Amino acid sequence: MLHLNEPTIRTLPKDQAKRKVSSHRRTKIVVSLGPSTDRAKTMSALIEQGIDVARLNMSHGTRDDHRRRAQLVRDSAAQHGRAVALLVDLQGPKIRIGGFADGPVQLRNGKRFVIDTALNDRAGTEDSVGTSYTDLINDVDTGDRLLLDDGNVVLQVDKIEGTAISTRVIVGGELSDSKGINKLGGGLSAPALTEKDHEDIRFAAEIGADYLGVSFVRHGADVETARMLLRSAGSDAHVVSKVERREALDKIEEIIVASDVIMVARGDLGVEIGDAEVPGVQKRLISESRAHNTVVITATQMMQSMVSSPQPTRAEVSDVSNAVLDGTDAVMLSAESAIGRHPVKVVAALDRICLAAERHRSVLVSGHRMESRFDSVEETIAMATMYTANHYNVVGILTLTESGSTAKWMSRISSGIQIFGMTRNEDTERRMALYRGVYPVPFDATQLPRGDVNRAVVAELEARGLVAEGDWLIITKGDFSGVKGGTNSMKIVKVGEVTGERD
Ligand code: PGA
Ligand code: MN
Repeated sequence: MLHLNEPTIRTLPKDQAKRKVSSHRRTKIVVSLGPSTDRAKTMSALIEQGIDVARLNMSHGTRDDHRRRAQLVRDSAAQHGRAVALLVDLQGPKIRIGGFADGPVQLRNGKRFVIDTALNDRAGTEDSVGTSYTDLINDVDTGDRLLLDDGNVVLQVDKIEGTAISTRVIVGGELSDSKGINKLGGGLSAPALTEKDHEDIRFAAEIGADYLGVSFVRHGADVETARMLLRSAGSDAHVVSKVERREALDKIEEIIVASDVIMVARGDLGVEIGDAEVPGVQKRLISESRAHNTVVITATQMMQSMVSSPQPTRAEVSDVSNAVLDGTDAVMLSAESAIGRHPVKVVAALDRICLAAERHRSVLVSGHRMESRFDSVEETIAMATMYTANHYNVVGILTLTESGSTAKWMSRISSGIQIFGMTRNEDTERRMALYRGVYPVPFDATQLPRGDVNRAVVAELEARGLVAEGDWLIITKGDFSGVKGGTNSMKIVKVGEVTGERD
């Protein structure tokens, strides 16, 4: 398996080691890459501004573009001594119309318009257009509404004859090549993983992706299939299920349980269930994900006006802020960063909005899982730690972790206290970059004499300027360094007074 250059700098350069962590922002920022982020200077500024995950959207660009961008992120992250995860986001079965012979057409209300699966890809006119999705004729019925171009054009199906779906224009407008088709209420039967997706999964493995985004997931089995394909391609990337189909909501619990991460994919979801339903669904998806120890990203149009404007609207500020209050792990940028005019400014704006929202009382305390029983010793320690941290004068939690699971459990609990996820594994470091409130720190405790570990980990945080003398910290770890699972102790210590310990 060919991996991109791994970051070479494992400890921070001297001048940065002294600097306090940029902001201690808890909410993570996912940035879609594109032409606007291609300059090395821009990428460097984005990483300085604190992006946590870089997203390669397989719906756009060539493999060479994606390979080059992945390398750019890795190199720049290494230079800055930061862990930035790579998310490869599959295109999935986005159903599209074909092209038009003479450029965009205007569809007028009340007129007839035909979608014909037999029509040549470039043969569209004012009266009809093709689509490569031949099953469309089996998936629609008379009376169904088809939403084109994210709902900008709405058609109602009148009759289906052979390969032609005859419709009446309900909401007219301009229509150009390759716009998406959704059915109101869902029900298009295309499987979640296309032939192109299979190839892109192999590509994700090849470039060492940390996360794989699966579009238009229908049920838990889609998630398992994607995971199986990843494993057979030699990747242990975690799976991000994009919730963007009506049907996914009926199977939401099994999808959340099967997934490592859920994405509230508000673009397509809003088209299928109606935009007004999306905020309520977002709240439900976030709280159910957290309750099942699943991570959650809120995506699409968060800062849409900043594609061209240098500042967000009040409504966008509220939207981002509310996602933070809902408890999302991360907020995501799409066009704003990939093709927008102000990729760095938009990240700076997100940073500032998240920080302000995180001061709100409702996200500093937690009643989460007060009534529930835990499944393992590790999870019990994680919960006990968060309860203690939220009720005592602790400034940070230091967790020694191999896989990142303990840090993830901790981060499911609302808290204002930072979690330092200390690990010797670079992939765990990058993966933890997505978890709310978790600050990944590279550290190898396996070579230390057991009695020295506490002193050494605290010294490491002190050297990085992350904690100072007199700060109270909680340390969690297992009896043996370097094994997955096994966290069985928590200890409260004061920086400056940590001595060696005897077993
Ligand atoms: P997309 O997914 O950007 O890949 O379409 C997100 C969404 O639909 O909101
Ligand atoms: Mn989508």
